[in-house]
Amino acid sequence: MRVNADRDVCIGSGQCVLSEPRVFDQSDEDGLVLLLAADPPADTAEGVRRAVTLCPSGALSVEDDEG
Ligand code: SF4
Repeated sequence: MRVNADRDVCIGSGQCVLSEPRVFDQSDEDGLVLLLAADPPADTAEGVRRAVTLCPSGALSVEDDEG
């Protein structure tokens, strides 16, 4: 799984951090999303997908690995 977080779109609501803090953080400076792991471990997939669903701005997306 590859995770993308578009900081130009993020509005800093923090839903992603609550959903999967191993993959998402928020900047102390501007409050926007920081991607901690663009290729996160498999056991974070559920939380990452929840974050994509809950993100109010549509800043997050995932691509599944081939095969
Ligand atoms: S949930 Fe979406 S809008 Fe909120 S901080 Fe995360 S990426 Fe940004």
